[in-house]
Amino acid sequence: MPSEVQLSSVLSEFARTMLTDFPIQGILDQLVERIVEILPITGAGVTVISPGVDPRYIAASDGPALIFEQLQSNLGEGPCLVAYHSGEAVSVPDLSADRQFPAFTPRALTEGLAAVFAFPLRHGKLQLGALDLYRGSPGPLSPDAMDAAQTLADVAAAYLLNAQSRVDLQDSSDRSLASSLHDALTGLPNRVLLMDRLNHAFLRGLRRDTTAGVLFVDLDRFKTVNDLHGHAVGDELLVAVAHRLTPLLRLGDTLARLSGDEFVVLCEDLDTDGSAAQVAAIAERLCSALSQPFILTDHLVDISASVGFALASPDRYTPEQLLHDADTAMYQAKRNGGNRTQIFEPNHQRIIDKQTGLAHDLRHGLALGQLHTVYQPIVETADGRIIGLEALLRWTHPVQGPVPPATLIPIAEQSGLITEIGAWILRQALADTKRWQRPGGPLSISVNVSPVQLMSPGFATTVAAILAGSGLDPALLTLEVTESVFVSDSDRALVVLQDLRRIGVRLALDDFGTGYSSLSYLLRFPIDIIKIDRSFITDLGQDRISHEIVSAIIRLSHGLGMSVTAEGVETAEQLQLLTELGCDSCQGYFFARPMSDAAVGGILRGGASSVPRRLPVSRSSLD
Ligand code: C2E
Ligand code: MG
Ligand code: MG
Repeated sequence: MPSEVQLSSVLSEFARTMLTDFPIQGILDQLVERIVEILPITGAGVTVISPGVDPRYIAASDGPALIFEQLQSNLGEGPCLVAYHSGEAVSVPDLSADRQFPAFTPRALTEGLAAVFAFPLRHGKLQLGALDLYRGSPGPLSPDAMDAAQTLADVAAAYLLNAQSRVDLQDSSDRSLASSLHDALTGLPNRVLLMDRLNHAFLRGLRRDTTAGVLFVDLDRFKTVNDLHGHAVGDELLVAVAHRLTPLLRLGDTLARLSGDEFVVLCEDLDTDGSAAQVAAIAERLCSALSQPFILTDHLVDISASVGFALASPDRYTPEQLLHDADTAMYQAKRNGGNRTQIFEPNHQRIIDKQTGLAHDLRHGLALGQLHTVYQPIVETADGRIIGLEALLRWTHPVQGPVPPATLIPIAEQSGLITEIGAWILRQALADTKRWQRPGGPLSISVNVSPVQLMSPGFATTVAAILAGSGLDPALLTLEVTESVFVSDSDRALVVLQDLRRIGVRLALDDFGTGYSSLSYLLRFPIDIIKIDRSFITDLGQDRISHEIVSAIIRLSHGLGMSVTAEGVETAEQLQLLTELGCDSCQGYFFARPMSDAAVGGILRGGASSVPRRLPVSRSSLD
């Protein structure tokens, strides 16, 4: 039986350990070690039990005690478990007479166990596990020894609880640290962690003479996926992108998600020689992986990505600058049509600064009346009669002078101004055309529509409203679209084009032959007019292949019930050949350059009042 002194020394030892933040395992180890010293037992063991979870902590005073603890855990049976569940001490003074534990007892007897006593580790109603005392010879423990054991178990339980709450606190702060450094959706590192790694990479690079590369990956058409299929599908796609990119990286590289559809890869410890080629190869790998379709739960999604990359050079760069430059290169890749990679070149920044300035000026330009429309006549091939006009946008910048549409339209698209500008030119063109109508044949008007504008929400409704406001017959309006609209999202494009058809407008496929030129588009989409691109017309007299292509396009279009317009007709010889090939209408400098609305009025009035004036009339530019 333990002396009062021994017991109080064990208890005060426990009190000290609690003050020194002793870990759970340490408390248990000390409990089993000290109890063997003060009670008439051969071994002690303890197991901490949490419902439904394998024990995380087991302690034993010696080898056999460990065997008995593990035996009970593995079998799910034994005095330890009864004490834990009942909250009462269990006494088995003679194991050979035991019938309670049919699985545990025979195996424990073989291992030399003769008596076992188990005490719950409890605190109030809370059960934490049990303390087991083992003896190699049968016989009961005295009531004092039983009391002392339960006292020690109770004290240990109180300390365990305290230690457990420290562990929980640590776990949750680890978890919250992890979540503040990772993106919740994909589990990838977020911007904070990326910048931290980037800083380390810079410092290491300085020490070891290595360099780091940053790749900025932005998905093309991700917004369309969200708009069309909803955010849940968008989220599923982002997770799939993370899974697809991860195995493509080298060990030690970091893939992070910055925001939305922006991912960044940090490649560390690159050899200074050949690092550009290495990073370029990784960029290509990422880009081509993302151009493969994604099979999601309910959708097949086809996207691609623009990947920009930049390399650190210690004398020039900060981590923020490197990330910014990779971003700039990514924008350049996007401007070049997307689905491509682009290394950062310093003059990209100048181009982008200029464009940002122009976007700002364009917004004001629209309000200040700096935009205007010019018109280029479209004539009947057979007799040069003006049958319509194409409206073309012009912007005279107060400082830079005329800004060509090739520069202006992409800026308008990227800044979101295209819908406003598109509606403006449509209103303008319809009002002018309404004024120009004259006896002797209706005059139609063609207006270009950019893919961004076509896909913008409510486009068909806007067109219908502007048409209604103008009072012009919808059949006199032709909207010109390019083949790129079919490629980005052909299903939606089809719906919009069908809506426009229902309104009664005609649809022309502009610049035919330069884009993707899949003949299946011609079968699938409701197109009325094919406009053969100028590049084929220019070569018409000189080049057999162009002649064959133009001839085939005309025959095919006619076969499908479409009319054909040749763009960029500049010579009498081209006109002659187009007449022979049966091209319906022509447009080009040979007939007239784009001209102001006043000039159009002049040409139309110039002829006999009932007979429209024929072209060519003027080779001068009235632009
Ligand atoms: P597009 O729709 O194919 O327009 C024809 C372009 O060819 C016009 O250039 C026109 O001036 C030019 N062109 C016409 N005949 C000849 C010729 O005989 N020889 C040569 N060398 N060129 C000729 P522009 O006005 O610079 O417009 C370029 C493109 O910008 C247009 O190509 C169109 O895609 C786009 N664009 C123009 N206005 C608008 C607009 O209001 N909205 C949209 N979305 N795009 C527009
Ligand atoms: Mg056009
Ligand atoms: Mg064209």
